[in-house]
Amino acid sequence: MTSPRFDYASRLARARAAMEERGVDALLLSVGPDLPYLTGYEAMPLERLTMFAVTAEDAVLVVPQLEAPRVEPGPFETRPWGELEDPVRLVAGIVGGARSVLIGDHTWATFVLSLQEALPEARFGPAGELMASLRVRKEPAEVDLLRQAAQAADRVLARLAEVDMAARTEREVARLVAEWTVEEGHDVDTFKIVAAGPNAASPHHEPTDRVIERGDVVIVDFGGRLGGYCSDTTRTFVVGDPTPEQEEVHAVVLAAQRAAAQAVRPGAIPAEIDAAARRVIGEAGYGEYFIHRTGHGIGLEVHEHPYIIETNSQPVEPGMAFSIEPGIYLPGRFGVRIEDIVVVTDDGVEILNDSDRSLVQIG
Ligand code: ZN
Ligand code: ZN
Ligand code: ZN
Repeated sequence: MTSPRFDYASRLARARAAMEERGVDALLLSVGPDLPYLTGYEAMPLERLTMFAVTAEDAVLVVPQLEAPRVEPGPFETRPWGELEDPVRLVAGIVGGARSVLIGDHTWATFVLSLQEALPEARFGPAGELMASLRVRKEPAEVDLLRQAAQAADRVLARLAEVDMAARTEREVARLVAEWTVEEGHDVDTFKIVAAGPNAASPHHEPTDRVIERGDVVIVDFGGRLGGYCSDTTRTFVVGDPTPEQEEVHAVVLAAQRAAAQAVRPGAIPAEIDAAARRVIGEAGYGEYFIHRTGHGIGLEVHEHPYIIETNSQPVEPGMAFSIEPGIYLPGRFGVRIEDIVVVTDDGVEILNDSDRSLVQIG
């Protein structure tokens, strides 16, 4: 991963302020995106413990000795541990008499259990909420990486619009998408959904050996990672001429997608953004076929806060980035989804994707 360097000292200062606000004595982060957010270092998901231990006084990255050379210096101490040492005891020694401990959501249960045994006085909770409160508003440099990733995804879609998908399998198209995701500038491809014909009625369909036929609607939803930041975009294609019903369903989803994107501005309530999309689809008579939330936050993870869902009433703020991806899924027949990534700006919204949203005819 090409990992750009951010201002880790100020991120650490914000983490400590959030700890103090919540009365937290120690923050323990291991595998997952919270650790690189604060240190620039991503832990290998292996049986040897990597753990960043933060207290009001100390910030120590406990890391297996053989992985320590990968750590770039930052505003923390690095403590490599050798094969014969006990890293859990090391971490317990650093956080000492901590009473309130927050531990990273992705930490392996085996380490959580050992740490709980080593710190019998401490109360453990998940660090997810505190870390999300830091990560949810993106810095300009993070928005820039999200924008680059979105533009790379757009270039993949433009190339895909030139492909005759008929007679290829979903899996073959998925392989092309993965290859082009990297060719167009991502460091890695993270996922690809290619769902043709009736399979397009399943939102998270896994590509199969089904041969794509004329008349199929094909949903392509994919993403990669660029400089650590994710893309996630969906377009819907049709092989040959669309039926009037396919055209109508696509037009409804496009109108819903536009309505939701236009509802985004500082202070907008996620529930209302969701409702803007749901209203359009409901009024067209397809309400029961829009079976998921309108969107999810995106950043170091492809799904993170804020979630654009009926139950979220926390107003969005400048710097928040999320997807707008309404869909209609007609079981056994076909489906349509259109997805863009948007960022809340100081006075409105920036839509990071710019590729053709129409029902593009291929083949
Ligand atoms: Zn999804
Ligand atoms: Zn997606
Ligand atoms: Zn998405």
